[in-house]
Amino acid sequence: MFIDVNKIGPEGVDVDTNLDLPELEGPSGEPLQVRSNTLVAKVVKSSKGAEIKGRLDAVVQVVCSRCLEGMEETVQAGFSLLAVPETAEGEAAEVVDDPEEEGYRESLLTVTDGRLDLAAVAQEQIYLNLSRKPICSRECRGLCTGCGVNRNNAECSCDQEEIDPRLAPLLKFRKN
Ligand SMILES: [Zn+2]
Ligand SMILES: [Zn+2]
Repeated sequence: MFIDVNKIGPEGVDVDTNLDLPELEGPSGEPLQVRSNTLVAKVVKSSKGAEIKGRLDAVVQVVCSRCLEGMEETVQAGFSLLAVPETAEGEAAEVVDDPEEEGYRESLLTVTDGRLDLAAVAQEQIYLNLSRKPICSRECRGLCTGCGVNRNNAECSCDQEEIDPRLAPLLKFRKN
């Protein structure tokens, strides 16, 4: 869904929508399915382009970093972005350097042909807010270092040495 920045009236544009998002890519190149999402935002004209403030709620299918089982992660992000035309990046830098606008320092969005792409906004918010190391539960016991069994589901006869859960994903490969 796109908003034409040049056609925003004085009252602004209210957005409350579920977007069609493509499959995303996780930190190891794994596919991340976005199960559901809701973007609620207000877009208003600003001197250089547009300002979009709102929140994104999404549920993303990810993989537990300890036991490698699929799980859902909920993303809840509030954001405030300054959308500026691509051709005005130099001017945008001036805007960002304005101390009054300091909050926008990391939240600049370029707009091509006056079209503000809401799906791109939603995707960026998902990437910014997803856990680097999702875990299915605080009690997740991960994979056994000896045999690679998922210790949440089965006991095995290996010595139960405590392992660093950060190493667990490697065990799957060692097993093979
Ligand atoms: Zn787990
Ligand atoms: Zn084992």
